[in-house]
Amino acid sequence: MKLTDNFDRIHDYVRISLIDKCNLNCIYCNPSNTLAKFETNKSILSYEELYRLIHILIRDLEVKKIRFTGGEPLIRKDVIKFFEMISSLKKQYGFEIGITTNGTHLLEKLEALKKFGVDRLNISLDTLSRTKFIAITGKDFFDETITAIQKAISLDFKSVKVNAVIIKNINDDELIDFVEFFKSYSITLRFIEYMPFTGNQWDDSKFLSWREMKYRVEQKYSLTEIESDGKVSKDFFVDHAKLKIGFISSISDHFCDSCNRLRITATGQIKNCLFSNPSEVSLKSLLADRAISDKTIVEFIQNSLQSKWMKHPSADELAALNQNNMMSIGG
Ligand code: SAM
Repeated sequence: MKLTDNFDRIHDYVRISLIDKCNLNCIYCNPSNTLAKFETNKSILSYEELYRLIHILIRDLEVKKIRFTGGEPLIRKDVIKFFEMISSLKKQYGFEIGITTNGTHLLEKLEALKKFGVDRLNISLDTLSRTKFIAITGKDFFDETITAIQKAISLDFKSVKVNAVIIKNINDDELIDFVEFFKSYSITLRFIEYMPFTGNQWDDSKFLSWREMKYRVEQKYSLTEIESDGKVSKDFFVDHAKLKIGFISSISDHFCDSCNRLRITATGQIKNCLFSNPSEVSLKSLLADRAISDKTIVEFIQNSLQSKWMKHPSADELAALNQNNMMSIGG
């Protein structure tokens, strides 16, 4: 049975946050220092609960792709053991596994992640300057991240993407440098529009639309559009290079019509949309209780999806929302 909302959108892609803490304090995401309260949150889904959830999603709800995010997923204790656990499900059902990571703790885990069936890696990198890296993230993990990206590329994952959130007067002067740096790699470089979230000081003057980014890249490189089924990213080949570029236009040109994503927070709340409130009831209480049948959990997930809105509010309305924090959602 497919996971379908009131607007007939089929949801076969689920993003699960493994942890609601991060080791970086990126200015656009997690500006307040969460390291101070950095401890394992007892209310996050355990690995056993996550295993049960994933089993239900792929066996009963025909989910085809699961992406793990955070916080920073790779700082969770024993995370490799978790990927080993779910590799048995992957062998049985053949779904795709992706991770979105800041790359700071990736290098030493890459081979194990590959071995346990991770197909796709999205790695965040917002600048090619160490000084700016520290200014944006609050930490100096510049070398670790760059080295991890280069090794990931060499390991032949199904896909490696480098994600850069572009903010005016912070890193918008680096668009061409990014293309230059990655042009000989067979990866996708994605420039993401800066989105408003609680406490991230978003305002219009810092926002650069995907069209403006593309225009600037085209001052030096010619781009050829790639037809794609999904509209999440507008993708282009960089002519005479191995690199592809994608622009994520969540704000200036939303792609809600084709949204096939469901998000689950680290504490097990369902989020129908990146910008909507999470479900009041957590899946944790259901997943932890073996007396509750898988069928009941399937119904709960399906019912939650029925309140999904047709499209998310405008940027200004989003900026006015409180309680929408990327740290707990995971992007
Ligand atoms: N820690 C991981 C990472 O850095 O990739 C995963 C979590 S992070 C919240 C997921 C993605 O959301 C990253 O690519 C990050 O750049 C993006 N992101 C966070 N805040 C954003 C914002 N305000 N606007 C656009 N993208 C944002």
